[in-house]
Amino acid sequence: MKLLYANDQPGEHAPSWYAATSSIAALPSLETHLQTEVCIVGAGFTGLAAALELRSQGIECVVLEAHRVGWGASGRNGGQLGTGFNMDQQELEALLGQSMAHSLWDISEQAKRWILENTKRHNIDIDYQPGIVYAQHRKRFLAPLHNYCSHLKQHYGYEDMSPLGADDIRAHVNGQGYFGGAVDRGAGHIHPLKLCHGLAKAAMENGATILEKSEVLQIHRRPGSQMQRVVTATGSVLCERVVVATNGYVDALDERMHKRMMPINNFIVVTEPLGELAEELLPENEAVADSRFVVNYYRRVAGDRILFGGGENYSYRFPQHIAPLVRKAMLGVFPSLGDTRVDYAWGGTLAITRNRLPFIGEISPQRYAAGGYSGHGVALACIYGKALADHMAGNSELFDVLSQLPNTAFPGGVRSRPALLAMAMTGYSWLDKW
Ligand SMILES: Cc1cc2nc3c(=O)[nH]c(=O)nc-3n(C[C@H](O)[C@H](O)[C@H](O)COP(=O)(O)OP(=O)(O)OC[C@H]3O[C@@H](n4cnc5c(N)ncnc54)[C@H](O)[C@@H]3O)c2cc1C
Repeated sequence: MKLLYANDQPGEHAPSWYAATSSIAALPSLETHLQTEVCIVGAGFTGLAAALELRSQGIECVVLEAHRVGWGASGRNGGQLGTGFNMDQQELEALLGQSMAHSLWDISEQAKRWILENTKRHNIDIDYQPGIVYAQHRKRFLAPLHNYCSHLKQHYGYEDMSPLGADDIRAHVNGQGYFGGAVDRGAGHIHPLKLCHGLAKAAMENGATILEKSEVLQIHRRPGSQMQRVVTATGSVLCERVVVATNGYVDALDERMHKRMMPINNFIVVTEPLGELAEELLPENEAVADSRFVVNYYRRVAGDRILFGGGENYSYRFPQHIAPLVRKAMLGVFPSLGDTRVDYAWGGTLAITRNRLPFIGEISPQRYAAGGYSGHGVALACIYGKALADHMAGNSELFDVLSQLPNTAFPGGVRSRPALLAMAMTGYSWLDKW
């Protein structure tokens, strides 16, 4: 099943609140044969950040996007600009040693800064709001989280994450079932499609070519030459280097990435405007992610709507009715929203890796790829795009660190992936109940 076409209207954004509140003019498709230095496949955060960084270093590039700029996970996610990787620093220290854990921490801090600095530099309004609350649905999770806040302060000099007790958390989240948590004021939340549109405009103003409705079908290496040809149904791009930035939609374009990444779906709703109730539920206008494995994540958007992500399904196809699935999770946290209308409901596909650490590498000579941010791509995907661009421009500082992260293939063949996913997710969602 080709995920690029399994769940959405070809060439059209998901029916999201984001698509209703941000747009750019449609870009042309590839209808000819072009030649460039770097061809990037995919116009999400990874591909767009790579394009912007390549252009700022004087390297020519063409971006080919199967649908629209920001059509994939980047334009329809929860918007949480989180700190770190999907593995906490203590686990990273145990797995990779102190020095590597510190290098990764520095890169993840640089990732958040990259977004804030570039949106300022290029005048991109992304509706940034500071603060993510980590709300714990089990009492036993509190002590380790509070210790983690101290660990970050003591060993990384990070002062922005503070513990919240049972009483404190109510000043941040007026939802039910939380025993406390922590608030990270160095993290925040954004309008992700506005970021995609802004990055695309900035990259084009700096000389990048971005083409929409241009699905890449094949990438050939020219016999006896260093050049590669990237082929769509209506044209091709001859180039020296290729970047595969297709994340959850990796499909068959690259076998090595395909084996290492598992696409999974996740779902979001946005309520009708709630007036003062929205502020009562989330008084500080922070984003929230809770401690369930099938995580509930939510925040206010447009001042008084609630965007709520959660729910689960165990197939590559989105369920026919997304709203009731997510609504159930939302009412578990905010029972007072029982009569609230849902105005938008959509699904999206992201990629996880086996150990939840992203992948970056040269997958064959002069062909690069990055992805598998495992739910942390809002901050990380851009810095991974920059790492690829810098590496191609001759500065491998980021690439050399990030490409050392261990990544192994998922067991079984690509065909057994949906069954494996169903088994794993059923197990984990069962654990959430205990
Ligand atoms: C519902 C949801 C909620 C999420 N919430 C968060 C969150 O709150 N915080 C967080 O950090 N992360 C979150 N994520 C994850 C985050 O969105 C991703 O990690 C990140 O956007 C990945 O960016 P990307 O550019 O690598 O991939 P994508 O944005 O998926 O972009 C890949 C692009 O490649 C294109 N493409 C694929 N194949 C081809 C082809 N053959 N030819 C041409 N183009 C092709 C696709 O059309 C797509 O536009 C969420 C994801 C989802 C789905």
